[in-house]
Amino acid sequence: MSSGGHGFDGVERRGLMFVLSSPSGAGKTTLSRLLIERMPGLRMSVSATTRPKRPGEVDGRDYLFVDKSRFEQMVGQNELLEWATVFDNRYGTPSAPVEAALSAGQDVLFDIDWQGTQQLREKARADVVSVFILPPSAADLEKRLHTRAQDSDEVIRGRMSRASHEMSHWAEYDYIVINHDIDEAFAEVQSILKAERLRRERRTGLTTFVRKLQQQLEK
Ligand code: 5GP
Repeated sequence: MSSGGHGFDGVERRGLMFVLSSPSGAGKTTLSRLLIERMPGLRMSVSATTRPKRPGEVDGRDYLFVDKSRFEQMVGQNELLEWATVFDNRYGTPSAPVEAALSAGQDVLFDIDWQGTQQLREKARADVVSVFILPPSAADLEKRLHTRAQDSDEVIRGRMSRASHEMSHWAEYDYIVINHDIDEAFAEVQSILKAERLRRERRTGLTTFVRKLQQQLEK
C-alpha cells in the first residue's frame, strides 16, 4: 500500500507496519515507548478512542480522545484503517498519517488489539510485521496492572478476565516475545524490527543500487 521513500542507508524502501499486541499489563506500552525513543525512522500511530482519558495521558499524543458521534463519523467517512470495540469503548487507527509515513519510507508502530491486527493483515499483509507480547505468568500480569494504578479494582478484574481470551490469538502473530525482563524483551523486539527492515521485498531501491554498483565496477 505504500510507494517508497529513502531508507536509512540511502536505498529506497517501503515503510512497514510494526504491530505490538498483548493483554494489558504485559509491558507493551513500555516497549512501544522504548522503541520510539531508540529506533530512528519509527513513529507511533496515534489511535482515536472513545474511552475517557487516564491521568497523565495527553490528547493527540497518547490518543485522539473523541466522543461516540465523532468516532461514528470517522467510521462512516472511511477515515480509519481499522477499528474495534475493546472493553466497551471504540478504538481505531486514522489512515492518513499512516499512509503518509509509509510512502515516505517511515515505519509505523501500532499498539492495537488482535481485531485491529487481523484487519491490517487483510488490507496490507506484505507491509505488516506483528509481535505478540506475553507476560511470564498470571501473577506477574496482575501485579503490573495493580502497580500501574491507573484503573479501579473493577476495571482490573475485567482486564484480567479478558487477558486469557486475548492471549488465545497468539498464533495469528509473526513473532512471540515473553516479557520476563523489560530490557531483554526490548532487545528482542528491536532485533525483529532491525531484521524486518532488511527484507529484500521492502527495499524497493535495491535493483537501482546494485545496478549502479555494477556500473562502477565495470568502468
Ligand atoms: P487502553 O485502553 O488500555 O489504552 O487500550 C486497550 C486496548 O485497546 C489495548 O489492547 C490496545 O492495544 C487496544 N487499542 C488501542 N488503540 C487501538 C486501535 O486503534 N485499534 C485497535 N483495534 N485496538 C486498539
